[in-house]
Amino acid sequence: MKFALVTGGSRGIGRAVCQKLYQMGYEVLINYVSNEAAALETLDLIEGHGELLKFDVGNPDAVKAAIEGWQATHPEEYIEVLVNNAGIRKDNLLIWMEADDWRKVLDTNLNGWYSVTRAVLQPMLLHKFGRIINMASLSGLKGLPGQTNYSASKGGMIAAAKALAQEVARKKVTVNTVAPGFIKTDMVEGLDEAALKKDIPAGRFGEPAEVAAVVGFLASPEASYVNGEVISVNGGLYT
Ligand code: NAP
Repeated sequence: MKFALVTGGSRGIGRAVCQKLYQMGYEVLINYVSNEAAALETLDLIEGHGELLKFDVGNPDAVKAAIEGWQATHPEEYIEVLVNNAGIRKDNLLIWMEADDWRKVLDTNLNGWYSVTRAVLQPMLLHKFGRIINMASLSGLKGLPGQTNYSASKGGMIAAAKALAQEVARKKVTVNTVAPGFIKTDMVEGLDEAALKKDIPAGRFGEPAEVAAVVGFLASPEASYVNGEVISVNGGLYT
């Protein structure tokens, strides 16, 4: 059996990624932080081919305990695909942004990347195969007003992934990043879709499955020579 871990796999883009990886033959470890009902729905959608792995990516001790715990019960197996997808936003102009909102976003989106990636990396190197795929954002490439915290977290993730790609490429581990634009999930609830889509060349928000398709390619053996790359999925909004 081949195993993949998708952080934030309970909803939105993460759920679509779980479905894609299941179609590719993976047993999927579905991480979530609080919404167990949604995580169970994802498990149902992948016909039970996986398990739930609850932890807060922003809590390094919880990450270590969960991943070491899984590894202890699966001594012969390893997580060969990691999708660092869990993420939050707490938007505000910097002038109004409280330190807590800065830290919480960095802790979840960037420090979480460090904790989870580090926890799964060694077995990938030992097995000489691994795929690490990160969910950044248009905001991490371009910077978006009202999102200094989120842009910093996603820009940091992009740079960290490029650095790590060069560290591990010889061991046949690839580290790539997907940068979605506006995708229809809970995260964009409350945004003015009608107004925003006027600026999107494709004329619409994207679907989670359209992001998952790119993740699927990056996870596949066909993508073995793609490393340290960032692929935008944004309907032409920013090129
Ligand atoms: P979403 O619908 O809000 O789902 C967020 C997911 O992350 C949920 O599964 C949630 O788990 C999980 N999560 C949040 N905090 C967590 C934590 N501390 N530890 C573990 N899991 C946590 O978001 P989405 O739109 O699918 O976004 C997925 C990723 O794509 C994020 O990194 C986001 O920044 C990025 N992105 C999204 C868009 C967009 O337009 N939607 C655009 C660019 C980038 P629970 O269900 O337990 O809460």
